Amino acid sequence: MEPTTTARYADPRATKELPLGPCRCEGTPHSGGDVATVRTEVGWSELKSAWSAGTMTREDGTGYYDEAYGDTMAISRFTVAWNLVDVDAKGRAQARPIDVQTVSLLDEETFAVLKKHTEELLEHRGRLPNGSGGQSVASSPETASPTRRPRR
Ligand SMILES: [Zn+2]
Repeated sequence: MEPTTTARYADPRATKELPLGPCRCEGTPHSGGDVATVRTEVGWSELKSAWSAGTMTREDGTGYYDEAYGDTMAISRFTVAWNLVDVDAKGRAQARPIDVQTVSLLDEETFAVLKKHTEELLEHRGRLPNGSGGQSVASSPETASPTRRPRR
C-alpha cells in the first residue's frame, strides 16, 4: 500500500463541517441548517475495522456482508458532533446522541450524506486531501491522485 501523505499517523482532531441540509429538527432551531462535524483523518486500522463490522457469519459458517451495518459503524465512528436535537416531554431541546442506534434511525437522505463522507475517507485511504481542520467544502474523490479501492 502506497501512503498518500508523509504523515504516519492520522490526527484525530482533524475535522470538517458537513452540511446536512435545512434544519428539520423539532421547532427548526438551526437557521444555518443542520450540520455534522466529521473526521477528515482516520487510521487505516479504524477505517477497516468500521467496515469489517458489517461482515456477518451464519451458524453454518457461511457469511455475507451487511453493508448498511458497516456503513452505520463507520458513520457513528467518524462523526464527532452534530447539531441534531430532539425535544423531551417538557419541550426542551435534547442533543441526539451519535451512536449506532441513532444512526440506524436516520432517513435515507441524511444517511447518504454521511455515508458519502466515509466513502471519501476510504477512497483517500483515511486522509482527505484538505483535511487539516480548515473550512473545506466537501471534496470530490477526483481531486487527488488516483488510488486503488482496497478490498473490504
Ligand atoms: Zn436542526
